[in-house]
Amino acid sequence: MARRIVLLPGDGIGPEIAAATVQVLGALAVDLEFDEHLFGGASIDACGVALSDETLAACRAADAVLLAAVGGPKWDSTDPAKPRPEQGLLGLRKALGLFANLRPVRPLPALYDASPLKRELIEQVDLLVVRELTGGIYFGAKTRTKDSASDACVYTRSEIERIARVAFSSARSRVTSVDKANVLETSRLWREVVRGVHASEFPDVELEHMLVDAAAMRLVATPRHFDVILTENMFGDILSDEAAMLTGSIGMLPSASLGDGGPGVFEPVHGSAPDIAGTGQANPLAMFLSAALMLRHGLALDTEAAAVESAVDRALADGLLTPDLGGRATTAEATSAVLQHL
Ligand code: NAD
Repeated sequence: MARRIVLLPGDGIGPEIAAATVQVLGALAVDLEFDEHLFGGASIDACGVALSDETLAACRAADAVLLAAVGGPKWDSTDPAKPRPEQGLLGLRKALGLFANLRPVRPLPALYDASPLKRELIEQVDLLVVRELTGGIYFGAKTRTKDSASDACVYTRSEIERIARVAFSSARSRVTSVDKANVLETSRLWREVVRGVHASEFPDVELEHMLVDAAAMRLVATPRHFDVILTENMFGDILSDEAAMLTGSIGMLPSASLGDGGPGVFEPVHGSAPDIAGTGQANPLAMFLSAALMLRHGLALDTEAAAVESAVDRALADGLLTPDLGGRATTAEATSAVLQHL
């Protein structure tokens, strides 16, 4: 039976890299059916909201959602009453209950020299940041008076258990659980619950606890140390961007957001790059790698996921470089280079 994928090209370079990704997925021997919908700024133009009821209903009914990027100067406004493209992203995460954000960081040999870190440090780095996405300080109660402000950081046992399970099941060897247990009560609960899930369900995976300040240092000092980094919402937001810099280009980074059994959302980490939209210069590789995450985590098609990743690796090893990586290959050329290796 065909797997139903809702495709949300969005804005800017989104439609260009989405079309390229459909070509790549089309070359696999799996039956995928694409259902394309407006999202973000394009949806605001058509129907006044970034995420329409119709798009949301299609996403809920899909096996997976593949999203390119939203936003652009056309919809930038300081007027809080005006709809914004990013409301689509938040609305979708909330409606689909996406509580786990996965960001693999795997610098590719052909791009080692594009990283701000020394080659010796990033060689063979292959880590995954598993970030809790719906709890913690970003979602706690907020107060504000003229002279004071507060943001509550709240976590429940069940919120920590479900994200810990995602991390342990994604680990090959070790989970590093990152917190600030020397200061924060939420972190002490976090540690206790992660320990419990480990002991009762995943005793074969190594578990270590690390304070967030130490983790920030080790990520740039000895990044190879890490396999899976499990952490809460705000620490994960910061550490995943820090880890992202190891690869050297934002045009290379995929992400996956998963819920409890429903469809996940798979998207590149970069935005809609309005500065290069329509020029044919967009690097489609982060979107291809997001499609690979969709195959693996959304559709349980591990072999096909590995085939896409390996085709990207080999195209780069063959010299493929888009302008953001210091080369001249267009989106179309990058796409055919990857297709040749698939
Ligand atoms: P951006 O990621 O779009 O662009 C930053 C820089 O990286 C730009 O110079 C751009 O040309 C380059 N770049 C990004 N992706 C690239 C790719 N695939 N190939 C080649 N170059 C690439 O971030 P920004 O400029 O801060 O934001 C632009 C718009 O995107 C804004 O409206 C912002 O709100 C939105 N945005 C959306 C998402 C999302 O959809 N998830 C994420 C971040 C930003």
